[in-house]
Amino acid sequence: MEVHDAHCHYQFAEVPSAAVELARSEGVSYAVINGSSPEDWADVAALAVRDPRNLPSFGLHPWDVPTAPAGWLAELRRVLLAHPGAGVGEMGLDRWVEGFDPVAQEAAFRAQLALAVELDRPLTIHCVRAIGPLMDILRATERPRRGFLLHSWNGPVELVLELARLGAYFSFSAHHFPERKAHLREQFAAAIPRERVLVETDAPALCPAPAYRVHELPPAADGTPQNHPANLLRNLGELASTMGVEPEQAAATTRANFTRLFLGT
Ligand SMILES: [Zn+2]
Repeated sequence: MEVHDAHCHYQFAEVPSAAVELARSEGVSYAVINGSSPEDWADVAALAVRDPRNLPSFGLHPWDVPTAPAGWLAELRRVLLAHPGAGVGEMGLDRWVEGFDPVAQEAAFRAQLALAVELDRPLTIHCVRAIGPLMDILRATERPRRGFLLHSWNGPVELVLELARLGAYFSFSAHHFPERKAHLREQFAAAIPRERVLVETDAPALCPAPAYRVHELPPAADGTPQNHPANLLRNLGELASTMGVEPEQAAATTRANFTRLFLGT
């Protein structure tokens, strides 16, 4: 069974290449590797050279907006033009992170959204406690022709169909496993159109509880558990049981959706 990872960060040092190779041997196929600032874009590009299943995406994450170097947007355009198959992101809005600057975040968001439209690229959006401002922008602004991913979807059910009409895809992650997130799993079961469902790890972030891990990575220095890329298989299994289908069917559905959004075919 082949499963495509809609969102991850293999470029981070916490993800050894041996872990990626193990994940690939167990069924992980394409993976969208999301750059988060100019500092890691070269590492993302190198992963794409190493394995064509590593699909590069380049963006400025909202957490990295305060420290972005002058000229980041021109550099982003240059990197995207050098990688015609690359997406834009991870970018977004985050009103949870300490010290956030909503004005600077929105400016970076609008600039990257415009670039994705201009260059006809898929877009990956991070949205935490900012669904209102996100909707204001998406409703009033041109969006990428192929659509956009709301990674690790965390919004209200009332907006799902409007977002789908605006071009949204919604990805399922370990964020949805705890019992307090049952309302979000219910959305994947019933509200989100099947042709817009994806599955992701966000590895090395969003590590599931020990009972859900396929393999382990060493924890970070501060003890934070790191998410192994092969945990995608377990995420897919949870998505399948949430949707009431066999894992093979959930894998086929998410592969077709992934191909439409990220490969454009
Ligand atoms: Zn991410």
